[in-house]
Amino acid sequence: MHQDIEKILLSQPEIEAKSAELAEQLKVDYADKRPILLGLLKGSTMFMADLMKTLDIDLQIDFMDVSSYDGAASTGDVKIVKDLDLSVRGRHVIIAEDIVDTGRTLERVIELLRSRGAVSVEMVTLLDKPEARIAPIAAKYVGFTIPKSFVVGYGLDYNEKYRNLPYIGILKQSVYL
Ligand code: 5GP
Repeated sequence: MHQDIEKILLSQPEIEAKSAELAEQLKVDYADKRPILLGLLKGSTMFMADLMKTLDIDLQIDFMDVSSYDGAASTGDVKIVKDLDLSVRGRHVIIAEDIVDTGRTLERVIELLRSRGAVSVEMVTLLDKPEARIAPIAAKYVGFTIPKSFVVGYGLDYNEKYRNLPYIGILKQSVYL
């Protein structure tokens, strides 16, 4: 285990099994819909790869980079760093997220996709922190509900570090306090 990690919350096998389960649900719900699976950079990349491998239906993938975080705190201000390439008009969109925290990021992205003519927008998130929610956002497909602590690994960072850890761990407070 990495020295900055307090404890491992979710192991790689646990995460992979859950991703496969979520992909099975999506497979049933989107079999004939040719959805766009939209990953939010950079945190969703490992989870996105897991999902894609099991989600053997006709789909397209795209990425968007929106940012609302500065270090370990949400700023509440969401900006689009990279927009998606595909048009969402008339399409079913599944947003893949690493974690839903305050919900502000997703709220903005959903608003934007709807205003651009997406037929439906649903969310699949690996992690959900419902205690921290500010915006009224509920992901339809949730991997794990976790407590309010700050986690890293499996795509999630602290100041761009730890994204490559193959597990989700709680970061030691001494690292960011
Ligand atoms: P929200 O807009 O829901 O507050 O924040 C969503 C984004 O904030 C996530 O995609 C993620 O990048 C970041 N975030 C929220 N909670 C955590 C956390 O516990 N750890 C890390 N590393 N990022 C988080």
